[in-house]
Amino acid sequence: MTEITQLTELAYEGSAHPLTPTPTVGHAAASMAETVHPVSDRVADGAIRVTILGSGDPFTKKAQASASVLMEVGNPQRDFFFFDLGSGSLANFNGLQLPVTATTKVFLTHLHADHVGDMPTLVWSLAKAGRRDPVEVWGPGGDRPELGTRSYATQLQAAHAWDMASLNGHPGQSGARMEVNEVPFDSTSTVYERNGVQISSFPVIHILNGSVGYRLDFNGLSVVFSGDTRPCRPLVDAADGVDLLIHETFPSAGIYAQKANVPLAFAEQIVNGVHTSPAAAGGVFKRAGARMSVMWHLAVDHETVGPVYAEMRTRYDGPVTIAQDLTTFDITADAVTTRQTVIDPYAWPVVGPTVTTGPPMNPPNEPPAWWAEALITD
Ligand SMILES: [Zn+2]
Ligand SMILES: [Zn+2]
Repeated sequence: MTEITQLTELAYEGSAHPLTPTPTVGHAAASMAETVHPVSDRVADGAIRVTILGSGDPFTKKAQASASVLMEVGNPQRDFFFFDLGSGSLANFNGLQLPVTATTKVFLTHLHADHVGDMPTLVWSLAKAGRRDPVEVWGPGGDRPELGTRSYATQLQAAHAWDMASLNGHPGQSGARMEVNEVPFDSTSTVYERNGVQISSFPVIHILNGSVGYRLDFNGLSVVFSGDTRPCRPLVDAADGVDLLIHETFPSAGIYAQKANVPLAFAEQIVNGVHTSPAAAGGVFKRAGARMSVMWHLAVDHETVGPVYAEMRTRYDGPVTIAQDLTTFDITADAVTTRQTVIDPYAWPVVGPTVTTGPPMNPPNEPPAWWAEALITD
């Protein structure tokens, strides 16, 4: 692929190629397959693997789940981290066949529904699938307590009281809850340090206070994830020396107005007043100078990819990928390699080791008396 145009074949049409003219930046190991088959091709020792679980926008579709990025690190624990969890992203995660028991760390950039839509599935359904440890959630505070991540998690748990009660007697009940760490929305700070992994948050500019981006550092390698933002200095500062920069990008206002069927002035406000246009993303990429830059949170189709790529190119000529679902980046000191992952859409969840053991928290529920008459038993 030398350029990206309206004719470029896309992942959901069956293309095995990521949307980039430079799938290898540096010198990749000669043994790398063309696509990632996750069960036999895991993150390497000392490396970082980033997989886009949701590349799309709020209007979730079969071709693109809503906002979510998975980061795996090649430490002995093989830790992995969700960054946002939009609707549909856990269907892609399931195909990676990573242990559901380890789905315990989520970093939220902000509380827009397209970034948190799969949180109930994570907390309650994956507890039924085998997770016994609670989910730790990092996310921004807000101008008022009720606008912050702690309030969001508390209210979500209250709303799922029936699901929680249904888990009485189930081994997964202990995993069906959240522990929240609020991170500051107005300053850069280190929010996680374990097992050789450091994660910091930084403020971004998106509608109102309470939106952040994150940087993950491991073994001298680093990834910056913007969440939703207008072009902003704290992100460029946080991206100093970064290997992979994932930055939100919307189509330019003219295309957005046409595709979303809204007036141009409204599209201008959405694209430039709330998000980042392709040309502005190019400007951020140029300032940051990452080894690989990624346009993400973009509705990918034949009317968007060509113009979006060309508009970005007016400002930046380094390596860039347009993210699709299951675009995967393997990062080592030698190379950043971009491929598409191929998943088994029928796979069952994989269960791994867990910290919490012993009997379920509560005894099973007593069956209501009227069931004796109502139940069909033969
Ligand atoms: Zn948003
Ligand atoms: Zn968003």
